Amino acid sequence: MSEQLSFVSPTANSPWGTYLSQVDRVVPYLGPLARWVETLKRPKRALIVDVPIEMDDGTIAHFEGYRVQHNMSRGPGKGGVRFHPDVTLEEVMALSAWMTIKTAAVNLPYGGAKGGIRVDPKKLSLQELEKVTRRYTSEIGIIIGPHTDIPAPDVNTNAQIMAWMMDTYSMNVGGTATGVVTGKPLHLGGSLGRVKATGRGVFVTGREAARRLGMDLRGARIAVQGFGNVGSVAAELFAEAGAKIVAVQDHTGTIVNSNGLDLAKLVPISRTDGVIGFKAGGDIVPNEDFWNTPCDILIPAALEGQLTAERAQKTTARLVLEGANGPTVPQADDILAERGVLVVPDVICNAGGVTVSYFEWVQDFSSFFWDEDEINVRLDRIMMNALNHIWDTADKHKIPLRTATYAVACERILMARQERGLYP
Ligand code: NAD
Repeated sequence: MSEQLSFVSPTANSPWGTYLSQVDRVVPYLGPLARWVETLKRPKRALIVDVPIEMDDGTIAHFEGYRVQHNMSRGPGKGGVRFHPDVTLEEVMALSAWMTIKTAAVNLPYGGAKGGIRVDPKKLSLQELEKVTRRYTSEIGIIIGPHTDIPAPDVNTNAQIMAWMMDTYSMNVGGTATGVVTGKPLHLGGSLGRVKATGRGVFVTGREAARRLGMDLRGARIAVQGFGNVGSVAAELFAEAGAKIVAVQDHTGTIVNSNGLDLAKLVPISRTDGVIGFKAGGDIVPNEDFWNTPCDILIPAALEGQLTAERAQKTTARLVLEGANGPTVPQADDILAERGVLVVPDVICNAGGVTVSYFEWVQDFSSFFWDEDEINVRLDRIMMNALNHIWDTADKHKIPLRTATYAVACERILMARQERGLYP
């Protein structure tokens, strides 16, 4: 008998509610391992920390921070850190759980974890951002470490923030622990190819899905929501392959151009002014119109819960590539399946980032660094092997790719759980 968790109240479309429903869908395919499934429905450990800092104007501000280690049956925790004003414990729990599934789906020797601070970093000076980062790192320092839990970048965090995290942790333990975070700058033990890895993984899995659908990427129309690290890199790679990026949305608004947006101009402008800064290159339209822009491929690469049931009805895409974590609510998943739209789920589609994070961690420990070609060849091979195995599972059971990914991943996680046994 298991009690419900008391500290979250998930709804059908909330991140944790979405995750629980995804787990429920895989239970029929787990065989005898299903007796262990409850272990996936609760995080192993969740830490809430107070992050007080002195602001530039002399006032004291407090921010709420989290680090959740969802599951460590297969290895140390792994997962990014998000700085966003809407971050909640429930969201971080779901993101950590998706990391557990993702690392197992690609067969990396990690569990799943995630962190976040409820803060709008755009309202902080650089000095305040550094203080928030360092105090948060020090607070979660009691549970992270190169062999226990390794953070990385996520929404609104980057290589500089990873450098501050690495330095803070190192100062506290006495030494230089490069392996405590991934996504670091290159000269601090970072890896070539890490910045583009997630977008590249979206492209590699998307290209294979398009091939299986008989869709030619040359001339294919693509709509991208979220034009940060993941969305912009994926868009560039698809454009290089001959696709047209016909709509892009970020937090500033939506820009469309049915002839294809000029990414060489849009990308640099978007970094300073957001995508609506490129008015000269397309039409600015209301945000909701993004979802019915005629397209062949839809790439949600912003936040969770964006692809709702209503938007799933509207889209003309035949293929959805989940660059973001948890962008599709369960009801939308069903609608897309009924409409014959193929979804490559987040837990495999955006796994390129954690895969190159794994390479970075391995390189840090061996103090021997690989060239970018080697990174990309290994990344493509791991992603393709994982995707092909998942596709075979989907074909065998006649189930969607998401359920197949969960079947492959949950079997690995629960097998490890069973073999380890329960302590005491
Ligand atoms: P980022 O901070 O670089 O970019 C986020 C983008 O989303 C920005 O363009 C921002 O303007 C846009 N955005 C924010 N709120 C929005 C809204 N309400 N509507 C439309 N657009 C909005 O973040 P990122 O690293 O690209 O992450 C994007 C997604 O990909 C997240 O779900 C993240 O968890 C996931 N992800 C990231 C990585 C990684 O390596 N960075 C790896 C796996 C998954």
